[in-house]
Amino acid sequence: MPERSYFDWNATTALRAQARQACEAALALAGNPSSVHAEGRAARALIERAREEVAALVAARPSDVFFTSSGTEANMLALTPAIETADEKQPRSRLLISAIEHASVRAGGRFARDAMEELPVDTDGRLDLAALAAAVAKTPRPLVSLMLANNETGVIQPVAEAAAIVHAAGGLIHVDAVQAVGRIACDFDMLGADLLTLSAHKIGGLKGVGALVRRSDEIHIADPLIRGGGQERGIRAGTENVTGIAAFGAAAAVARRQRATEAAHMLALRNSLETGLRAISPQAVIFGAGAERLPNTTLFASEGMKTETAVIAFDLEGIAVSSGAACSSGKVQPSHVLAAMGLSPPVARGAVRVSLGWDTAESDVERFLNAWRKLASALSKGQRGIDDFTAV
Ligand code: PLP
Repeated sequence: MPERSYFDWNATTALRAQARQACEAALALAGNPSSVHAEGRAARALIERAREEVAALVAARPSDVFFTSSGTEANMLALTPAIETADEKQPRSRLLISAIEHASVRAGGRFARDAMEELPVDTDGRLDLAALAAAVAKTPRPLVSLMLANNETGVIQPVAEAAAIVHAAGGLIHVDAVQAVGRIACDFDMLGADLLTLSAHKIGGLKGVGALVRRSDEIHIADPLIRGGGQERGIRAGTENVTGIAAFGAAAAVARRQRATEAAHMLALRNSLETGLRAISPQAVIFGAGAERLPNTTLFASEGMKTETAVIAFDLEGIAVSSGAACSSGKVQPSHVLAAMGLSPPVARGAVRVSLGWDTAESDVERFLNAWRKLASALSKGQRGIDDFTAV
């Protein structure tokens, strides 16, 4: 296969070598972590080690980490009216989310549709804190769910400020940190979160593993999604995915140690990619450029560009980019994130997301810019098809 450049790290990252080694070590063990014999205890030890590493990644306590099957499941588990605290056992009345949340939050967990409210963002895709303050002021016992960084634009949300507003109104805040962790500092207490979601495959672990982290044992989810054998202290039943959890722990350890270096590496390359992009196409729009963004994400559009065509054209040039918007069925849906930022459908329909990772090299950025030069030239001649692009 010819050399390719992978620019879709927000969809999923490469598996870290340490995570692969942890998988192999876990696969060599036969025991069920709930068994009391030596084999069982060995599997349990892997899980508890991983719990420590995942907790350390977000500066939480291991006893506050609950492993799940994904970030999606952790979001679903967190979004319930039945979150109790030491002082409040009454159900949470309403769920407030921003208009740019991931589908797994937009689905609302265990809240009824009419008990949910979406809060606006500004044109750079940042939560409107005044709208949050107004909404929580009229909502008794609200639960608020906000992402720390948006998966499409990379725009970082004012979570700590939001948490202060929510707490002052007697509410709780859940933070979806799936895209942020490993890329920016993600300290549980500094964020002011009550609950926080993580996903292993965005930091170099396996797909199909996640975690819900809580502030302290004062936060209790009274209606777990999956009941049964009492694993994960009754919050998430089912024999644990020992392999996936061990790999999550190993990936978390590397992500914590190397975050600052990897972030600086990605930012330098992302900046040179954006400089190159603007030099080739001065009229190109980089969404959220006026806000603080993840160091690895660029969502852009250029006149005449159609997302599907561009993604395929890049793919033919050996470059994996994505639409940024949900496209689980293979068909690009209009982006609710760009719509919330007030962008007109024609602009939003042309958005392409380029997301970098720790393995991205300068040669990848060069390959991307060479491909973009060709596509931009085809677009400027009004040749919008893939054939036109590849023929240039
Ligand atoms: N939240 C955000 C912001 C995401 O980007 C994703 C995945 O893309 C998820 C949640 C879901 O995580 P998972 O793929 O582990 O279900």
